[in-house]
Amino acid sequence: MNNQDILARSLRAVWHPCTQMKQHETLPLVPIARGEGVWLVDFDGKRYLDAVSSWWVNLFGHCNPRINAALKDQLDRLEHVILAGFTHQPVVELSERLSRLSGLGHCFYGSDGASATEIALKMSFHYWRNAGRPQKTRFVSLQNGYHGETVGALSVTDVALFKDTYAPLLRPSAQVPSPDWRLAEAGESARDYALRCAVALRAHLERHHAETAALIVEPLVQGAAGMGMYDPEYLRQARALCDEFEVHLIADEIAVGFGRTGTMFAWEQAFAAPSPQPLSHKWERGYHSPLPLVGEGQGERVRERAITPDFLCLSKGITGGYLPLSAVLTTEPVYRAFYHDETARGFLHSHSYTGNALACRAALATLDIFEQDGVIEANRAKTAFFNQAAAPLEAHPRVKNFRNRGMIWAFEVADAAPGFARQFFEAGLQRGLLLRPIGNTVYFMPPYVIGEEEFRMLVSGTLEILENM
Ligand SMILES: *Cc1c(COP(=O)(O)O)cnc(C)c1O
Repeated sequence: MNNQDILARSLRAVWHPCTQMKQHETLPLVPIARGEGVWLVDFDGKRYLDAVSSWWVNLFGHCNPRINAALKDQLDRLEHVILAGFTHQPVVELSERLSRLSGLGHCFYGSDGASATEIALKMSFHYWRNAGRPQKTRFVSLQNGYHGETVGALSVTDVALFKDTYAPLLRPSAQVPSPDWRLAEAGESARDYALRCAVALRAHLERHHAETAALIVEPLVQGAAGMGMYDPEYLRQARALCDEFEVHLIADEIAVGFGRTGTMFAWEQAFAAPSPQPLSHKWERGYHSPLPLVGEGQGERVRERAITPDFLCLSKGITGGYLPLSAVLTTEPVYRAFYHDETARGFLHSHSYTGNALACRAALATLDIFEQDGVIEANRAKTAFFNQAAAPLEAHPRVKNFRNRGMIWAFEVADAAPGFARQFFEAGLQRGLLLRPIGNTVYFMPPYVIGEEEFRMLVSGTLEILENM
């Protein structure tokens, strides 16, 4: 195959996701022949730095030798087996390890992020039904939240571009104000704004708790909203309010889980007791989250201090970006409510590839890398260094709301012309950078293996683009 050949054949045969296909009359597809670390390489050898981790999934680079070796080993043992009535080593080990890391358990598997959302919503609803509260059928989510695009997940998503067309298909859900600090009043700190949003959540739950099954949130970072970041105090308040009003808290960590925000799971940064002093942020211009206090391997300590959701949805980085896999973990009381002589009280939900052995093995290899390389710790040092390297961007006159949390950097571009996202994307490709702005928000979400030199290329390439468009 060569570049030209594959482009024409792809346009004839493949319906590409999240794409108006007609735009490809003028915007060429990017053919990829192979991957190597943070680089994607086309058939002519042209290289692209994957600064979006291939849609937020890749953690340790493309064709990671350790994950490859684990998969090759698994391939000669067992590729897949039905998980109803059967079990296997990778799924058991993965469930045990996710449970140790999160303090939750009873791992239920799906194939994509959206299927994890569907599972959590159905489980919450079914829990209340089993618990004799069948009137609790409603869900509440955050304004601008994103939880996937199947019909149930889209019902709790609040992104007009994805949702409006399908509105007649969707079940109404309620949205409460998002604590995204970009929405704060001038002069209002992220913490104060988060508290104001928590008051709005309280008002909603006071009125609607009797028919509300769960609140679903993206902890700390609303990805599809354009990397909207918020103060952990909101999560602490949300947990307390959900307890007070008997509503489940679903943590959708599909994008932010597995170290992306600086801790293994983002909700670990929300403590059950208020943090003693206000966090120091540079509010006037940028948002620098403090380096997290806790890391992987400190599961017990984390759980003593952090809030815990009732459901935890995981996907994306779970397999290091190799294979589709998602998981929902929950609490003992939820599990108990389904455990019964009556079949219909059980959770009769399944996907054909539930708990796929290869995908679970890739996830185990990914967790091994976290442990063996002390990734959470190492990323802290990287984050500090990268923040320094990004200083010229933060200081650029067209850059607004520069912000960072863990391994995510984002900013808005002032005076962005219509079509900005596409033009920026094309300009990035010309410079060997894969960047996909969301509206006028440019973000970096690189694989954790990105090196200093590579990060500098990302910053200087982005500055060049800003100067030229
Ligand atoms: C990507 C994403 C989803 C959906 O995952 P898919 O694998 O694309 O179905 C759900 N929630 C959040 C927060 C996401 O970022």
